[in-house]
Amino acid sequence: MTQTLRIMKFGGTSVGDGECIQRAADIVVAAASDGPLVVVVSAMSGVTNRLIAAAHESAKGDAGVADALKATLGQQHQTAADLLVKDPEKRAALVTELEKIIDEAAGLCRGTALLRELTPRALDSISSSGERLSARLLAQALQESGVNGVAVEATELIVTDDVAGRAEPLMNETRERATARLSQLLEERAVPVVTGFIGATLEGKLTTLGRGGSDYSATILGAALDASEVIIWTDVDGVLTADPRLVPDARTLPEISYNEAAELAYFGAKVLHPKTLRPVSEAGIPVWIRNSFSPEKAGTQITSTGHPTARGVKAITAISDVSLITVGGRGIVGLPGIAGKTFTAVADAKANVLLISQSSSENDICFVINSVDSTRTISELRRAFAFHLAHKEVEHITINSEIAIVAAVGDRMRGMTGIAGRIFSVLGQRNINIIAIAQGSSEFNVSFVVEAGSMREAVRSLHREFGLHERAERIE
Ligand code: ADP
Ligand code: ASP
Ligand code: MG
Repeated sequence: MTQTLRIMKFGGTSVGDGECIQRAADIVVAAASDGPLVVVVSAMSGVTNRLIAAAHESAKGDAGVADALKATLGQQHQTAADLLVKDPEKRAALVTELEKIIDEAAGLCRGTALLRELTPRALDSISSSGERLSARLLAQALQESGVNGVAVEATELIVTDDVAGRAEPLMNETRERATARLSQLLEERAVPVVTGFIGATLEGKLTTLGRGGSDYSATILGAALDASEVIIWTDVDGVLTADPRLVPDARTLPEISYNEAAELAYFGAKVLHPKTLRPVSEAGIPVWIRNSFSPEKAGTQITSTGHPTARGVKAITAISDVSLITVGGRGIVGLPGIAGKTFTAVADAKANVLLISQSSSENDICFVINSVDSTRTISELRRAFAFHLAHKEVEHITINSEIAIVAAVGDRMRGMTGIAGRIFSVLGQRNINIIAIAQGSSEFNVSFVVEAGSMREAVRSLHREFGLHERAERIE
């Protein structure tokens, strides 16, 4: 496909209400005169949460939830349509289309309430409604400005495996389908507005890519269509040296590498879905993070080389809602296969391990997973170690959910001595207890576990220690 094609993705707050959608449309209209564009859109902010909550509430047998959902979503999207579309006939046609999608979601909630069971498929379908609504609003807003915006369902473009709730793309099939479906539209100078977050199996069954997955949709399409760049429009000026909600004087990083961005996303920088860089890094397609509320700002560019600075640490990040699980006991010293058995059990529980740490005495193996996976993981571990527990070789399997992971990230940390020492002495001065340190993590980060209540203080003190509130000079 054409070399100059750009992908622009707008996140939930960037399409949060009618005014925001208008602002997004203005950005697209201005860019559309410079060459072909494919737009990817998230649901209006809060909508996916509301849909998922309604699905779970319905599963408890409450049929009234569907009506309440219909009323709130109807009102929210109608208000946006009123602001965006002047012509009464066009507005009525749009609202009819929106109502149809809302009715479908409400119908699935009603069915769920009747069955008192929420299947993963039903949850995927219900939670995908937000993007189907916002894509139509933005496409119509573009039409109002004289650009031929066309809402396109990602089920027709992104082919995935069959894993509900966190599907993975099949890139060859996606490339074929997306090219076939979009070529004609792009030749006609239309601007496809694609539903983020959604895909479909080869057989056409709807899937979703996981929470926050619209970023991933954008880079999947960027790679599939050989785009020249992917621009992710959000509500902050770019990738910052820390989450601005934790560190008010965090600064925007002008350029970072794919590795750095991937580490930051993996260790909690919500600004990017953790898998965002996977499809584009090999092809070297640059990704921009920009603020749709301040489009005059340059944002952050993510490239192969990044923007090397003399300082090793570029950003500090943190994840909460995680749990530390410890498998331990004197009997496991020298006992072969304990680590293997532990992580097989974790894999059987389908939990993603964020950090692993083993003390040199080998009395304990500890690792961190997302708290949502902890109950399942603990029962798998108890099952796998039933024999060892009975024979006291494994003495305990414990869980601590009052923790957070903090990570310092930077490409040039590799081979730099003293960074870990500085981290630990700063935390020591602040009386912040380090519960565990990652072992064998990538060379681009140092990550460790602290008590949840110390997370903010740990991030702030490290941010200051490494001077991240000050501008960094670029080195070549
Ligand atoms: P969108 O709806 O556009 O996808 P998200 O809410 O998913 O936006 O991500 C943007 C948010 O990520 C920001 O508002 C910010 O609070 C948070 N964030 C966390 N860490 C960082 C960071 N290092 N740099 C920028 N933003 C961050
Ligand atoms: N709307 C989806 C979510 O809230 C996807 C996204 O916003 O990226 O998770
Ligand atoms: Mg997001």
